[in-house]
Parts: sequence; C-alpha cells; structure tokens
Amino acid sequence: MNILISVDMEGASGIVTSRECGYPRNPVGDPEANPDYLAGRRWLTGDVNAAVEGAINAGATSFVLHDSHGLNYRNVVLDELHPAVEAVRGAPIIFFELGDLSKAYDAVFLIAMHARAGRRALLSHVLSWPLLREVRINGQPVGESQITAALAGHFGIPTVLITGDDVVCEEMKASTGEQIETAVVKYSLSRYAARCLPFSVARERIREAAHRAVKRIGEIEPLRYSAPITLEVDLNDRQVAWYISWMPEVRYNGDRTVSYTGDDFLSVYRALMAMFWIATSQLNP
Ligand SMILES: [Zn+2]
Repeated sequence: MNILISVDMEGASGIVTSRECGYPRNPVGDPEANPDYLAGRRWLTGDVNAAVEGAINAGATSFVLHDSHGLNYRNVVLDELHPAVEAVRGAPIIFFELGDLSKAYDAVFLIAMHARAGRRALLSHVLSWPLLREVRINGQPVGESQITAALAGHFGIPTVLITGDDVVCEEMKASTGEQIETAVVKYSLSRYAARCLPFSVARERIREAAHRAVKRIGEIEPLRYSAPITLEVDLNDRQVAWYISWMPEVRYNGDRTVSYTGDDFLSVYRALMAMFWIATSQLNP
C-alpha cells in the first residue's frame, strides 16, 4: 500500500510563529541560519515520522513525501526522516508532476496543515499572505488542504489523514462529510498563538490517526467538486488582479476578484497556480 505524504509546515507540533516556518525569508541571509526554522524543521519531521509509524503498523508499505512548504521546498530534515520514506524536494515541485498519481498511490496524508485565510487560527492563509485574501471553489472558501485533497481526488485518490491545529482539522472534516481521520496537535488561540500538546502526546495522536486512516482506505471517498468547477480568487491588490485577468479565459470583476471555470479540478488547479505565480512575481512593484 503506497502513501503520498503532502507536507506543509505551519501545522506542525509546537510551531506558532512564521519564523519557525522559515520566514521572513531574508532577514539575515540564508533562512538556514535562522535557529527557529531549524527547530521547526525537526518538529515537522517528527510529525511525519509518527504518521509513517502508524501507517506501517496498519499495513502501509511505501511512502513518497512531497515537501510543499515555502519557496525552497526543503523543510523536512532528511537525516531524521523515517527510512521507509522517499522525499521529493527542490523547487518548484507541483504535485501532479510526480507521475501518474492514480496508479502510484492508494491514499494521501496531509501533515502539518493550517487553516484557510481569514480564520481565527494559527498562521491562517491560503498560498500567500498578504497577496491572496480568499480562494473559493464553487462558491465555498477553501484552504490548501481542500485544494490538495481535491487535486488528489481528481486522480481518484482519497485523502485519509490530516494533522494540524484544531481549526484545520474541523475544516477538513466539514469538507469531507466527516470522513477524514484527524490528529489535532495544537489548539489555536489566535493567528499567532496556540496551546501546543506535548510532542509525545501529539505524536501518539498522529500514530493512532494514521493507523485508523490506513485501515479505512477504500472506505473514505476522494474529495471531488462537481463540474463545471468555478474558481474565484480575491486579491488584496487590484493591480495584481488586473494583471492576472490577462490570462486567457480568466474573468475580472473590475475590482480585486478574478475567476475561472474549468471542466475538471486539474485545469482549475493549474489556473490557480498560474494566478499565484503572477501574484507573487518579483516583477510586481
Ligand atoms: Zn506552509
């Protein structure tokens, strides 16, 4: 049984600041020189390992990790990573470029996720703050967890586990009809504070949830949105919205919202990523 592990960082055990996630990128040069970031990377790796241990105990046999946080995509500490895991790292990596996902993986784990933009939750955002204010799919606000799970769903792969704070776990339960297994590792008090469980407790929760998740592969449905699928993105800067609207087939509401409608989630995902790259381009003043 093959598991694709998609890893973010903000939702890792113990993490409460963007510094621990490697931001700001360039206060002292190389983010590797930021000791808070090094600590955050180790905490993240511990969460991944707990998920792998639980999954192996339930019968999973191989793991590919997709390191998807930040701009360098090299967050997990390889020296400390469970030996059953292959890591895809380096930038930029796009999930669907990993090959024919539908044949390769039986399920997806989402590790260390954060709540969507606008929530009263630790480091809540969608893809980029402060550039993107909200992303909606078929009218529903979504975060990165729903976006990744829907991309997996496009390939017929169920997302069976999420770890992170209490808010993102609740969000994904709501988005999956309560199907997904969750491991809450901390409780958000605000966007910048959380009550963090001891690592031993958090990781035991992750182990147990991963075990349950693997046992339920085949029972949990892939996340899908009904076609045609409409993507709406609210930017904070109307000039950026205007630039994005130059993309063919993208509509502009004349203010700060752009939208696109596709026949399937893969085309919607590609449109969203192209919008994101325009929004974060260094060509913007
Ligand atoms: Zn992140």
